[in-house]
Amino acid sequence: MFNAKAYSAASETSPLASTTIPRRDPTEHDVQIEILFCGICHSDVHSVRNEWSSVMPTVYPIVPGHEIVGRVNKVGSAVTKFKSGDLAGVGCLVDSDHTCPNCQDGLEQLCPNQTLTFNSPDRHLGGVTYGGYSESIVVDEHFVLHVPANLDLAGVAPLLCAGITTYSPLRRWGDIKRKKVGVVGLGGLGHMGVKFARAFGAHVVVFTTSESKREDALRLGAHEVVVSRNADEMQQHAGSFDFILDTIAAEHDINTYLHLLGRDGNLTLVGAPEKPLPVSAFSLIFGRRSLSGSLIGGLAETQEMLDFCGEHNITADVEIIPIQKVNEAYERLLKSDVKYRFSIDMTSLKG
Ligand code: NAP
Ligand code: ZN
Repeated sequence: MFNAKAYSAASETSPLASTTIPRRDPTEHDVQIEILFCGICHSDVHSVRNEWSSVMPTVYPIVPGHEIVGRVNKVGSAVTKFKSGDLAGVGCLVDSDHTCPNCQDGLEQLCPNQTLTFNSPDRHLGGVTYGGYSESIVVDEHFVLHVPANLDLAGVAPLLCAGITTYSPLRRWGDIKRKKVGVVGLGGLGHMGVKFARAFGAHVVVFTTSESKREDALRLGAHEVVVSRNADEMQQHAGSFDFILDTIAAEHDINTYLHLLGRDGNLTLVGAPEKPLPVSAFSLIFGRRSLSGSLIGGLAETQEMLDFCGEHNITADVEIIPIQKVNEAYERLLKSDVKYRFSIDMTSLKG
């Protein structure tokens, strides 16, 4: 075991503060990574503030962070995928049972015995797992991703969660070329959804509550932008969408968006608001529409996404901050005041 510098929160009302956490010495299948950047996902905020207490209560202290990119500085004796000096990425998962039907199908994110990167029981050290707001992490090589060398690392970090969470449902829905695709909420996930939907050839419409994001949405790849507070603008798109990806982190009326779907259209939720969202049966019955959810992606698909980003030069638009600004960043994230992901420069922990 060794000690690593990190930032943790002691309770749901405490700010994040400097601390030291234990990390295991790499076992034979483990990779030890020096973390260079870690994105701030809205899930970090939900977890630190215990907003998902009914589904996954937070155990304190919590060290969040699951958009991790860094450099390998040690490998276990049986590791074959990585060597010291390689770039490496870690997302939301650090372990699973490898034997259940979901793991067998490469869907480790749906494994009933998965270990999340933070706030999951740690089967090596006891207690819970600690995430990426730290100078290092030790992870089984199966859960470590190769990072294309041509990409900017600060912008790569968010691909490990925001990237795969939007890539996966867009891919799974089928060929979206020339289909009308909506992306609701232009935040960390939403702006990646726009980039992927555009890269896959869809006609992309962004729904935003922020008039000020209109220009950005177009620059990021949207063909059209709708300010969702404007009922007339919304009505013009009624019954016209093939697929809508909803990334909103807070309470909102999803019936408004279901009405925009055409026949057999689908709305997939990736946003995870604290409270339930009421659905009118009629929003689904008329038009034979469907509503689904999607959770990150499996390891093979995450690697496919990173390789796709390498080929198409796709990264997140980031604002780089030192870890000392993390509490301020949380407040700004809650006001949708970030373009479009905070990426923490982890070398700031050494200061
Ligand atoms: P984010 O950066 O805060 O973006 C969310 C966006 O939603 C905001 O930028 C804003 O966009 C819009 N929004 C916020 N409050 C709203 C409100 N009250 N009404 C309408 N729109 C609102 O968050 P994120 O990191 O992208 O995460 C989004 C959600 O996805 C979170 O709940 C997160 O926990 C969840 N998540 C799920 C998965 C998964 O696997 N399913 C993975 C990662 C994250 P505009 O300013 O454009 O309106
Ligand atoms: Zn996330």
